Amino acid sequence: MPAERIDGTAIAAAIRAEVAQGVAALAPRGVVPGLAVVLVGEDPASTVYVRAKEKASVEAGMAGRTIRLPATTSQPDLLAVIDGLNADPAVHGILVQMPLPNAINAQAVIARIRPDKDVDGFHPVNAGKLFIGETDGFVPCTPAGVVELLKRSGTETRGADVVVVGRSTIVGRPMAALLLRQGEGGDATVTVCHSRTRDLAAHVRRADIVVAAIGRPEAITGDMLKPGAVVIDVGINRIADPGTRTGTRLVGDVHFASAAAVAAKITPVPGGVGPMTIAMLLANTLKAAERAAGAA
Ligand code: NDP
Repeated sequence: MPAERIDGTAIAAAIRAEVAQGVAALAPRGVVPGLAVVLVGEDPASTVYVRAKEKASVEAGMAGRTIRLPATTSQPDLLAVIDGLNADPAVHGILVQMPLPNAINAQAVIARIRPDKDVDGFHPVNAGKLFIGETDGFVPCTPAGVVELLKRSGTETRGADVVVVGRSTIVGRPMAALLLRQGEGGDATVTVCHSRTRDLAAHVRRADIVVAAIGRPEAITGDMLKPGAVVIDVGINRIADPGTRTGTRLVGDVHFASAAAVAAKITPVPGGVGPMTIAMLLANTLKAAERAAGAA
């Protein structure tokens, strides 16, 4: 039987509607959640992402604004912009779009954001809270979105063998930490694989749940999976396809057709994890505004 598709577009829409309700509930207190996105330079992909984030925040009833800075911006000038946003009570969430120009130290910039406005969840304080199991920090949006997909698709993580492929600070590592947390969406037995893992297929084949965050098109194939596994594909890769109008198409880190023939549930690309990232950014921004208003 072919795998059930986990519809990230529909689940993300449900979360965005919930966030919009939360935003409306703050209105009588005179609070409008504010999200400030900082874009340095004109990287085409970043420009698209930033526009999508601003649009989504406005659609949820938030005050979304983008601060566009030239690629020549110095690190001290960028830090001064962040200081201004840190001090602005109308701004509840701050996101600096990555990648930054080479001349700027990204870690120094992330560390300058107030942890209680760090809706990307990359500040060392928030990363540390996640690592030690404290639940009052902000969690990076993509892995948080994966947990929501698992919960809302009725996938039990407690006691499950989960293999996360990838150990990046934005996906793999926080993903593992989330799945290790106690409670719903956690309590899993987690294995993290990476480029130095010996016999990746042997690890993946033991998994009840596979989270692929590798950045290599269609690297996980159906023959590597345990029948009935749940497959979450974080990857977004553009590959050449002369059969399409643009000559390219998006694929994940999982070979969808072969995996869907073996798995119980699988996320498509596009339409799986991708839409969840923005939905969770909005959820984090709402949380930040609720906390600032003393409503949560
Ligand atoms: P990174 O390149 O930072 O990390 C990739 C990880 O995969 C690394 O840990 C690397 O290992 C590991 N890896 C690479 N090759 C292999 C291999 N052959 N076998 C096992 N592991 C391997 O990528 P990201 O975590 O930033 O992103 C991963 C994917 O997710 C990308 O396709 C990206 O586009 C996508 N993405 C999607 C998002 C969304 O919103 N849906 C958001 C963020 C990312 P090592 O550490 O040893 O180098």
